[in-house]
Amino acid sequence: MPVAISHSVRIRFGASHLIDGHPTCGRMHGHQYTVVMTFGGFPNREAWGSPVTYADAQTVGSIVDEFRDRHINDMLPAGFPSVDGLASYLLERTRMHGVTKVEVHESDTSVTGTAEYIDR
Ligand SMILES: [Zn+2]
Repeated sequence: MPVAISHSVRIRFGASHLIDGHPTCGRMHGHQYTVVMTFGGFPNREAWGSPVTYADAQTVGSIVDEFRDRHINDMLPAGFPSVDGLASYLLERTRMHGVTKVEVHESDTSVTGTAEYIDR
């Protein structure tokens, strides 16, 4: 029986946001974000034993990079420009590439948002 494994990729970038009415993020400002994308699955011989192919990892990195030096509010017009909204958005965009969990950390605060698919 194969053993399930996970593989994570960590990406850092700077971006700005504004959350209307929020006590500390209610004015336009920036954060350094760290996004941890976790790929779940089984060892793949074509990916040197990883559950994710190099091509999928590159594609996911490009999707996260779209936020680098951008205003998150402009990038998520229908979503919340928070760590939670960003985690949800990134998981939706990357799920087809094998991502099962996304964590978004504001590096200069203790705030983390996590989006994860859970089988029920
Ligand atoms: Zn903020």
